Amino acid sequence: MIYLDHLLKATQGNLRQLSKHVHFQAFSHDTRQLSPHEMFVAVRGERGNGHDYVLDAVRKGATGLLLSGQTFQQLSEQTKSVLANEEITIVLVEDTRQALQHYARAILEIWHPTVIAVTGSVGKTSTKEAIATVLSRQFTTFRSWQNYNDMLGIPLSLGRLEARHEYAVLELGCDHPGEIAALSRMVRPQIGVLTNISPVQLQYFSSLEHLAFELGTLLTSLPEGGHFFYNQEDPIIRALLEQRVHQVSSTVTCHPFLPDAKGNAHEQPRITVGWDGIQGTINLPASSEHESSENDQATLQLRSHLLGEHNFATMLAAYQIGLSRGIYPSLVEQALTTLQPLPGRLNPLPGIRQSMLLDDTHNAAPASVKAGLQTLSALAGEQSQRIAILGDMLHLGDAATEAHRAIGQEVSQYADYLITRGEWATLIAEEAQLAGMDSERIIMTSTHEDAAQAARRILANLPDSDKRAVILIKGSEETRMERVTELLMARPWEASELLVRQTPGWKKTIFRHAERPTWVEIDLNAIGSNTRHIASLVGPQTQVLVALKADAYGHGALKVARTVLQNGASMLGVATVSEALPLREAHITAPILVFGYVPRWQMREALRLGISVTIYSKEEAQALSQAAQALNKTVKVHVKVDTGMGRLGIRFEEVPAIMELVREAKQLPGLELEGLYTHFAQADAEDQSHVRLQLARFQEVLQQLEAEGLRPPIVHAANSAGTLTLPEAYFDMVRPGIAIYGLDPSPYVRLPEGFRPALAFKTQVSQVKWIPAGEGISYGSTYITERPTRIAVLPVGYADGFRRSPQNWGSVLIHGQEAPLLGRVCMDQCMIDVTHIPQARMGDEVVLIGRQGEATLTAEEIASRLGTINYEVVSELLARIPRVD
Ligand SMILES: *Cc1c(COP(=O)(O)O)cnc(C)c1O
Repeated sequence: MIYLDHLLKATQGNLRQLSKHVHFQAFSHDTRQLSPHEMFVAVRGERGNGHDYVLDAVRKGATGLLLSGQTFQQLSEQTKSVLANEEITIVLVEDTRQALQHYARAILEIWHPTVIAVTGSVGKTSTKEAIATVLSRQFTTFRSWQNYNDMLGIPLSLGRLEARHEYAVLELGCDHPGEIAALSRMVRPQIGVLTNISPVQLQYFSSLEHLAFELGTLLTSLPEGGHFFYNQEDPIIRALLEQRVHQVSSTVTCHPFLPDAKGNAHEQPRITVGWDGIQGTINLPASSEHESSENDQATLQLRSHLLGEHNFATMLAAYQIGLSRGIYPSLVEQALTTLQPLPGRLNPLPGIRQSMLLDDTHNAAPASVKAGLQTLSALAGEQSQRIAILGDMLHLGDAATEAHRAIGQEVSQYADYLITRGEWATLIAEEAQLAGMDSERIIMTSTHEDAAQAARRILANLPDSDKRAVILIKGSEETRMERVTELLMARPWEASELLVRQTPGWKKTIFRHAERPTWVEIDLNAIGSNTRHIASLVGPQTQVLVALKADAYGHGALKVARTVLQNGASMLGVATVSEALPLREAHITAPILVFGYVPRWQMREALRLGISVTIYSKEEAQALSQAAQALNKTVKVHVKVDTGMGRLGIRFEEVPAIMELVREAKQLPGLELEGLYTHFAQADAEDQSHVRLQLARFQEVLQQLEAEGLRPPIVHAANSAGTLTLPEAYFDMVRPGIAIYGLDPSPYVRLPEGFRPALAFKTQVSQVKWIPAGEGISYGSTYITERPTRIAVLPVGYADGFRRSPQNWGSVLIHGQEAPLLGRVCMDQCMIDVTHIPQARMGDEVVLIGRQGEATLTAEEIASRLGTINYEVVSELLARIPRVD
């Protein structure tokens, strides 16, 4: 509860408008999660500005507004007059984030609960919950909300603090240097709890030592008479204590989670893990007060429904704190038995096909992934199959490669099957294979759907004799692995209650920070679904090769390759040997055909990579054969026939030469004849006569080969347009490209219902300003303003593939409306007119290709403005633009 007078006093705020509302249930900074009677706080974020949502907040029932004075001035007159007529209290401050911090500090002083601050690399939220659960047995206890743990989140949660609270258990995050110190200054804890120190968020700390130093700040910031609880099993924490003990006020008492009066080494706790939770037993050292004998040695036994051995430390922490606050041991033990796993934290859920899911998708770091794997293995027992679905571990800085590989080395001990999702996680797969895990049991995927599908396939193929499978699902927060869990739940409709990140705010957050404010978003699910459409169109008799040239038409070849192979494609096509290299390096083992010229000096490379080569002359065939013999390998070849494209290939008229080449390909040592193909020049035309002519010519050649018994196993001809319009051209395989990306082959051959584009091209406004009439915009001042003009500068230019001439994009989308380009496009920047879009601000998202609100700007539309085809528009988006998915 927030009282207006407390707020005004704490923030030195200016009461802009008073209504009958003088207290508020809580703070909210996100109108998607706002409940009636709350105070909406407009926070300027990295993306978007809370001030734009003021009216939305009022509509959702906010009774108070905390705004910055400056931006209040910028609200439109209309908005201001709406506000003036509402029963709503408005407080203006200079800076809303700072005001919240002042409030947090003040309210903790006013109600003065005993503040317990919990920090550490992992397990903070569980530990906070466990402590609060124990304390609640005897005291009114406040706990910070979910994992709100930073300079914004903690004050927001403290809006719910009340006079009756005797304790406040708060989680302190540690994402960057100085954060713990700043948070400690704000909340001034009397009790500090340090769970563990491991490489998490290392990208913000140059080393583990720096991270340890930062976490140790909690200890040194404790006041006289403070208490510090720590996990003595953690060697880094022990070292830290030795180092810093002299800086600590002598009146601060340090308590290990496991009390040991003499500092003797303990027996290890005996921990058993079952589906109903863990039980840990430990012999306590006989306390010196009672003269003890062997028999009355005390044992401590704690139980809870939490899963995972590491949670015994969580329970011990809560146990010690409970005892130290004078709660009876039996009451503390009893409280612990009520602890249930939190969503996303080793939470057991029934899965499809009688499987059991271990949903651990809350976050991932090396230590917690290992703990998750151990729990998977312990719970599965002897009879069950153990499946680990692992996503990327992020924020590990330089340690990332090593960390993923280390998991890979161990995974085979704990799991029978490994499914990875994402590029970092492929390192886990790679290493698992090196460590001897059967490659048949390792599946690498790029999307949530494909990861879930891979698990479904494994489940479907398990022999009935096997007891149910257990599936661990884990990955860093940003990888959103809870979506995989949802797809595998026996009761998916319960997802919104049982999984992490189910709030509307999270559901809408799809943006992952790119390295640049200009980025390309690739919807790999669209690519997967388009591939399945093509596969079902051509039927099971016909293979699908997906054309991946030019970095998959600008979509990113690697992820596209993994996705199409999971969704019905069996072969990949590239333009050059060099395009095949990264695919092989990423352990893509599917057949790859090089469509283009392979010079002699690249033949050995082609052999090394095990890719199929296109040939159209005897000399090439012989050179390939020599290279193959030299390396003692075999190379598969496809003979290319030019039936009217006028590009690469042996002309269809030269039947004897074709026959000879095919014979050579069959007979030369080291060569294996795999295919015969042609390529259409006009499959996408309105008039089908040319493509039919090419098809007839190709069929003729094929007949002659068949008559001689020379037909190769894979005959193919159709590109996307041919696949959509000409079933006679399917033969053994089709070769779609553009259709897989969800783009129309041409204005005459459009994609049927159900295909969707996968690529969006976006940027962010870098500046907004007024330019008076009569001024020039951009190089050459080719555009002169006719009236005072409000322009937005965008950080995108022709060096990104955002074309300058002879025609440019014309307009882009901002706030779901078209905004025209002004003047020339520069190398890395351009300007648009936003005079008609007054809400446009710095940081706003701008769509260059894709959807925004109701508006769309398709690659086809841009192609027609530029006077080219959609193929060129997307494949010209340069590699310097980061791709996110
Ligand atoms: C690019 C290419 C394709 C795919 O063409 P789309 O029109 O994108 O379907 C097929 N075959 C060859 C030889 C190609 O070069």
